[in-house]
Amino acid sequence: MRHGERAWQAALLDLDGTLYRGDEVVPGAPEFVERLRRRGIRPVFLTNNSTRTPRQVADKLNRMGITAEPDEVCTSAEASAHQLRERFGPAYIGFVGLDGVREALVEFGHRAVELGTPEHDGHPGVAAVVVGLDPEITYRRLTAVCAEVSRLGAFILTNGDVRLPAGDRFVPGNGALGAFIETATGIRPYVAGKPNPDFVQFALQRYGLDPDGVLLIGDNRRTDVLAGKLAGVYTVQVQSGVQYAETESASTPLEPDEVHPSVADLFLP
Ligand SMILES: [Mg+2]
Repeated sequence: MRHGERAWQAALLDLDGTLYRGDEVVPGAPEFVERLRRRGIRPVFLTNNSTRTPRQVADKLNRMGITAEPDEVCTSAEASAHQLRERFGPAYIGFVGLDGVREALVEFGHRAVELGTPEHDGHPGVAAVVVGLDPEITYRRLTAVCAEVSRLGAFILTNGDVRLPAGDRFVPGNGALGAFIETATGIRPYVAGKPNPDFVQFALQRYGLDPDGVLLIGDNRRTDVLAGKLAGVYTVQVQSGVQYAETESASTPLEPDEVHPSVADLFLP
């Protein structure tokens, strides 16, 4: 196996479809992460999901038997907050989302203003808008979000995932929320999560990694593999995602460097 023949600094790991499926761990994933650690390869949990904080992500992984620390987690909410810090410095940022978005904004020095709530009413004006998934969002709040996006002429969508698996059904993902706002305002979002290579760059910068020493492992060609390719890291696709069969086709954008059934097949002794 080619990936096993190189000395890697770090492995950027997708979560849903790669280490777990919904609430079920992918068989062999805990042992795989331990193999990485034993080889001195830093695991970085790189997730498009912006609803959870890094601690909540680490807690979920640990409950499944995968050892993870909050500072090994990079979320699309953090990448969004980082972008805004670079662009505006510390600022008042309007947001839609759960703790994952609010805490990321605060972590990067911003003042987080939840759009369409009393803390937003009467606010003199936010510098930017970040939209993450909030399953409790209302039409009234979306109206307030659209007004701010219209005024600013731009918004950041933490991630563009269109559907989230929920048992044998799905729930609309953040991409669907972004499409609502885009349709109403005519303004296209900047999408911070994968496949945007800036998300990978954010992780490389955060841990001081050289792209030549990094591999990215994920189940989705259109998000994981594309982001990795664009950022110049080695890419491994695993076929453990629930949507693997239905979403992959001959028209997928880029070939990964390697394809394996699951992380259980990687870095075997
Ligand atoms: Mg995935």
